[in-house]
Amino acid sequence: MEITTVGVVGAGTMGNGIAHVFASHGNHVILCDVEQRFLERALGSISKNLEREVAKNKITAEDRSAALARIQPVTERQRLAGCDFVVEAATEKFEIKAQLFRELDAMCRPDVILASNTSSISITRLAALTHRPQQVIGMHFFNPVPVMKLVEVIRGLATSQETYETVRALAVKLDKSPVEVNDAPGFVSNRVLMPLLNEAMYAVMEGVATAQAVDEVFKLGMAHPMGPLTLADFIGLDVCLDIMRVLQEGLGDPKYRPCPLLIRMVDAGWLGRKSGRGFYTYSS
Ligand code: NAD
Repeated sequence: MEITTVGVVGAGTMGNGIAHVFASHGNHVILCDVEQRFLERALGSISKNLEREVAKNKITAEDRSAALARIQPVTERQRLAGCDFVVEAATEKFEIKAQLFRELDAMCRPDVILASNTSSISITRLAALTHRPQQVIGMHFFNPVPVMKLVEVIRGLATSQETYETVRALAVKLDKSPVEVNDAPGFVSNRVLMPLLNEAMYAVMEGVATAQAVDEVFKLGMAHPMGPLTLADFIGLDVCLDIMRVLQEGLGDPKYRPCPLLIRMVDAGWLGRKSGRGFYTYSS
């Protein structure tokens, strides 16, 4: 089956990036969110990010206009019915995704693959809500999507080999590097990364070193492009806490206990870059 029209559900940070890369690679994209203003914000970001690629001579001004013209913003979910492939990038709440998967399963052709960009929700669980569990899969992009090469391709327990191969080939067509992962809390990326960030927070909380000193150790000693606390601020401390809780609940090992300093900072509304304050302070 040829994939030409791709549905992207959720036009936030990840959805706009996913729509951007599919449209840049010649796909017609139906971008769906619950309110017009979210779609307008997404199209504004995509336009600006494509403009940046024009400025760097990666694409021409015509490529930019053509990519934008291929994205159709919609608020009525029924408009996704004609898609050849759908990737869901809505808010990270099980109830929201469950409702979407039930609806998509009812409206899309039976041969259509339904993918989720979830960071932590079980693909197997989402698949079980549909009548096509063999065609449900995780396609986990990284932020910022147009820049980051990795796509974790996550097999649910029932995901078929054919579905896996289709999604893997699709990622390659988008000029991404797919890596195969099985369904488990946090997959690989967050299972390994989040405990590192959490431990860096413990080091700060226990007075082992300042946030700046911890970050310097990782930048200068381990050649990380940014230190763990800068990265945590970039991801969002609320997101880090949610993922630690998924690991703690799903794996049951006390080593995944969220750092108390992280909990206190989230309670205070210090969410990192997006709120202006986290381990560092940010001006607008
Ligand atoms: P976000 O909050 O920026 O965007 C989510 C969007 O989904 C919002 O615009 C919201 O209005 C929309 N939405 C909610 N319910 C919807 C519905 N029923 N139909 C259509 N749209 C709906 O979130 P995000 O950071 O883009 O994350 C989206 C998904 O990607 C989550 O599953 C998250 O775990 C995952 N993810 C995020 C990152 C990241 O760095 N932010 C990285 C990888 C994966």
